[in-house]
Amino acid sequence: MQFFQRLFILLVITALSTSSIYADKNPRFEGNDSTCIDMFEEITSEYWDNDNLYPYSNSENIPDTIKLKLTDEFRCFVMPVETRINSQFGWRWNRPHKGLDLHLQTGDPVKAAFDGVVRYAQYNNGGYGNLVIIRHYNGLETYYAHLSKINVEPNSIIKAGDILGEGGCSGSRCTGPHLHFETRYKDKPFNPLDIIAFENGSLTSETVMLTKNNFVIGGKTNFDGSNFTYSNKGSKKKNLKYSYKIKNGDTLLAIAIRNKTSVKSICRLNKIKPESTLKLGRVIRLR
Ligand SMILES: [Zn+2]
Repeated sequence: MQFFQRLFILLVITALSTSSIYADKNPRFEGNDSTCIDMFEEITSEYWDNDNLYPYSNSENIPDTIKLKLTDEFRCFVMPVETRINSQFGWRWNRPHKGLDLHLQTGDPVKAAFDGVVRYAQYNNGGYGNLVIIRHYNGLETYYAHLSKINVEPNSIIKAGDILGEGGCSGSRCTGPHLHFETRYKDKPFNPLDIIAFENGSLTSETVMLTKNNFVIGGKTNFDGSNFTYSNKGSKKKNLKYSYKIKNGDTLLAIAIRNKTSVKSICRLNKIKPESTLKLGRVIRLR
């Protein structure tokens, strides 16, 4: 009997502690938290678009200095994935790389870095694949690309650490499972390392100041817009082609060597096998 009494007490304790965890999960939308509802309305009332990537489209001037308060007593930060960086923000393969690539395995959970609202959650044809964009309460947006699965709906409220989806390799620009992670302010990308110290899994500071210098890729600012033409200056690979039309006598290996790429990479990009017969006149992607 004593055993059953103990078991009963244990069950009650477990039930109580579990329910308090769940009750705590979204505290800012329980009860009459008008501050949170105000904040939700503030960030979703303007330039809010569930179907397009860059809703600001240069319609707003950015001040010389942007003060971003990243955390306070109510808001916290969670690493999107705890892992190493595979590829840095900056100039890469003759084009700007507007985010960081974080190593992961397909199916690994990808978490929201900060609290916010889902602005975009769908497949993107432009190369991002399955993409989730969260707009945070300070105006910052974070992009989570190449997901194998999306778990959230547009316009839903997100807490830092909520699982947005599973990592993967969707989208035409993906060559192996990873999370392409971007930080943008009014559509303009800047280096996520300016706010997140990935090596120790924390923020660089509670508040950061961004200036025009933070919005530079490949030696040129992209401050004035996402449609900006990037400079090729300084790139060693500037004469590399992006596509190639198959000619008589071509082999994948010869094409790969001539164009400083690999058979594996060409196969991946074009969804073909190394032993596939190449059709004359077919245009294949090289990078
Ligand atoms: Zn990337």
